[in-house]
Amino acid sequence: MENRYDSIVVGAGTAGTYFAKLLAEQGYKVLVVDKSPKEKLGSRLDIFHIDKELFSKFGVPAPAPADEDYVCEFDFSISKSAFDRYPKRTLYPFVVMRLPLFLARLARWAESFGVEYAYNTEFDDFIYANGKIQGAKLRQGDKTLEIAARLVADASGIGSAVRRKLKEGYGVETFEIGPEDKFYVILRYVKLKNPESGRISYSTAWPFYKTWIAPQHDPDGAIIGVGANFSFDFAEEMYQKFTAQIPLPPHELQYVEKGTTPYRRPPYSFVADGFVVLGDSACITKPFSGEGITAAWELCAIAAEEFGKAMREGRYPDAASVWNTNVRYQRDQGAKFAYLLATLIGAVNSTAAENDYMFKKDIIFKEKDMTAMNRHFYVNLGFAGTVALVSKMAGGVITGNISLDTVRSMLRSVKYAGRLQKHYQNYPADMRAFAAWRQKADQLWSAAGTMADTIKR
Ligand SMILES: Cc1cc2nc3c(=O)[nH]c(=O)nc-3n(C[C@H](O)[C@H](O)[C@H](O)COP(=O)(O)OP(=O)(O)OC[C@H]3O[C@@H](n4cnc5c(N)ncnc54)[C@H](O)[C@@H]3O)c2cc1C
Repeated sequence: MENRYDSIVVGAGTAGTYFAKLLAEQGYKVLVVDKSPKEKLGSRLDIFHIDKELFSKFGVPAPAPADEDYVCEFDFSISKSAFDRYPKRTLYPFVVMRLPLFLARLARWAESFGVEYAYNTEFDDFIYANGKIQGAKLRQGDKTLEIAARLVADASGIGSAVRRKLKEGYGVETFEIGPEDKFYVILRYVKLKNPESGRISYSTAWPFYKTWIAPQHDPDGAIIGVGANFSFDFAEEMYQKFTAQIPLPPHELQYVEKGTTPYRRPPYSFVADGFVVLGDSACITKPFSGEGITAAWELCAIAAEEFGKAMREGRYPDAASVWNTNVRYQRDQGAKFAYLLATLIGAVNSTAAENDYMFKKDIIFKEKDMTAMNRHFYVNLGFAGTVALVSKMAGGVITGNISLDTVRSMLRSVKYAGRLQKHYQNYPADMRAFAAWRQKADQLWSAAGTMADTIKR
């Protein structure tokens, strides 16, 4: 490790390594630091699913079946109602992979572009000069090192260790991602007792219980996952409700993994003078699934391009010179995610019977729309689609299958979701208009509420 780099990236996860590679490729000297030892990197999670189509979009080398991080692929997933009925197919391919092995392969790829790694190295604090970030203090055991850099990138995951250390008012929010702002996920790795009567070769989800069953590395096994706000205990309660209602294939528990994923709006700005926040620390996860890897690559790709331009010829990347990172992300994926996040706040209000009815009548859970949502994060209902949806909901109310309260809650969330989407699409190109934009965004989010509030009610 030297004592000066163009950029220090904190966190060697999927966000940090991808961003580091993109900067190094443009000729910058990049150091990635991670507090974890190299051999423990990514060990918090083994099996994960990733969008097959997005490797080529982001230029990340896809795993080949012979690679050790590759497990299998599936081309469609199924969603079922709260009473295990009306299966709907989402036609969208996923690759099943092993995270620690994927991270090791990604790091080798980044190293081939010149990225340096320092493991067992923890971010401690920023170094400021004239009020602007100019590097970082890092801890290695009981040693503290001061490393100069024009850019410090926070890719430290859900703990947001770097962003939270920013001086108040520096330009990026310093909030902690607390229990109401995340999903507590429990993964049970199980062995099927009668695999020959049906192996698990694709993912099946029950959105009402936020549970799913999916393949794992043992072809005779499966993962049964559940996610919920507030706590692991609450997720466990949800799992008990699920198993009381839904028959699972006979199985034996092998082991359990637990982790958390952000579920809240991201900071309004990702950039400040000599600083960018990425990945889980920036709360970039798909609102309908909690998956964060490829969602975060979108912001990484934009940020690497904008910082790459701003840092040419030794220039310092001040907030104004990289503001376009916010504009490009927030107007596009940011607006779509804001819409989905706000819509789902109302959608969690339904009862099991209402959920079953909505599956039956193709309300919300429509095959074509679920495929579009996975691929584009966007469902274009059009005029005819909207009329059909409203009339199906009205039919549900008239026949007593959906309560007026549920419809009101859904319409309310769709109303604020639409306003939020429009507001994000108008993210200000001029930094001077940001304070006013932010004030209105605060008002809209507080009117929309949160999923945690809806569940508590
Ligand atoms: C149970 C579970 C299942 C999931 N399944 C999927 C899935 O199937 N598909 C999907 O796309 N997403 C999934 N996600 C979400 C996904 O894991 C995350 O969105 C993604 O891994 C976040 O990547 P990241 O690089 O931002 O952070 P991380 O992967 O958390 O990496 C952050 C790194 O920063 C390091 N670090 C932290 N603090 C410091 C510090 N002070 N100094 C130095 N280093 C530090 C950590 O050691 C870590 O290596 C799942 C999440 C959970 C909890």
